[in-house]
Amino acid sequence: MSDYIPYGRQHISQEDINAVVEVLRSDWITQGPAIERFEQAVANYCGAKYAIAVSSATAALHIACLAVGLGEGDHLWTSPNSFVASANCGLYCGAKVNFVDIDHHTYNLSIEELEHKLAWAEQQGCLPKVLIPVHFAGQCSEMEKIAALSQHYGFKVIEDASHAIGGKHQGEPIGNCKFSDITVFSFHPVKIITSGEGGMLLTNQEKLYQKLIRLRSHGITRNPELMEGEPHGSWYYQQLDLGFNYRMTDIQASLGISQMQRIDKFVERRRFLAERYNQMLQDLPLVLPWQHPDTMSSWHLYVMRLKLDKINKTHQQVFEEMRRDGIGVNLHYIPIHTQPYYQKLGFKLGDFPNTETYYQEAISIPIYYALTHNEQDQVVMAIKQTLLSEKNMS
Ligand SMILES: *Cc1c(COP(=O)(O)O)cnc(C)c1O
Repeated sequence: MSDYIPYGRQHISQEDINAVVEVLRSDWITQGPAIERFEQAVANYCGAKYAIAVSSATAALHIACLAVGLGEGDHLWTSPNSFVASANCGLYCGAKVNFVDIDHHTYNLSIEELEHKLAWAEQQGCLPKVLIPVHFAGQCSEMEKIAALSQHYGFKVIEDASHAIGGKHQGEPIGNCKFSDITVFSFHPVKIITSGEGGMLLTNQEKLYQKLIRLRSHGITRNPELMEGEPHGSWYYQQLDLGFNYRMTDIQASLGISQMQRIDKFVERRRFLAERYNQMLQDLPLVLPWQHPDTMSSWHLYVMRLKLDKINKTHQQVFEEMRRDGIGVNLHYIPIHTQPYYQKLGFKLGDFPNTETYYQEAISIPIYYALTHNEQDQVVMAIKQTLLSEKNMS
């Protein structure tokens, strides 16, 4: 039995290792044929027309914003209960970033708050150009309502589905872009599947696809049909946009392809573990994860909220005691607007009270494919011990 149980970790099989070794022995180690196979595998799985693999979800969010036309002076809105990358992408483009407070039940951005804020922004003349809903913990945001609002107010929608590959919305795979312009996945090792580092963009719009392909690699095209004037020869390429080097390697893609074979197993196991936590934790002074009936979460995270008025310890005490017991609890997320960098942009404590309250009560407990029942029991035991013991007994 391991003496430290992390909140999340990758699962690497012998097949994964073989797949990577095979690429290392081939002619291609940077962007080559494995990239296209990985893109095809994810596009097929999600039911999207196009997929573009990149070096990270952060890179994906950046070029997604550029591709939909976000620029200087525009506004981007997202959830304050996310990793900083969901908001930073707006700043990379010179846009102003703002947030929509979260829903008490799903911890995704609240549709009610969004409606109010849009009505206000219309009056003020500062409607967002881009909205980035974040599918927190793997549970899809209310995309149908978001799509209706985007039609009405004319903003673009980029789904930050970094947590959510393998999840479903209204019975269909997250990533099909039915209610958005672009969906972004992350393949960081703690996420559902991994390529070491990596990200992917999905879209159904050919124009966006062409633009994203160029932005991934220096803004360059080799396709004569997209060039201005005649190509000089077969060596010729043209730079049409200011792009980046955000390419994924074939080494990473081969790991990603191999992991895609087990994605349903990964998610099934996570759902099972979540259900088991729900059973075992139900009688404790905790708020357990609530699931919207339209969604089937991929369970990237399992977040419990402490009912602090029924516990004689502080949030921090519970957290530290569990860490001391060898349980790798974590906290998702520190509200983005409370980060010093965002405070300097003018945000204040109190701006998004639901998110701030959530932050004072939330703890992410271990959930990942290889977590055993034994280890899960250990986690539950540690929670019970912490919550039910007296303050000065431990
Ligand atoms: C992990 C994560 C990112 C960033 O992903 P990288 O692939 O590490 O760049 C962005 N948004 C959310 C919500 C994430 O959880």
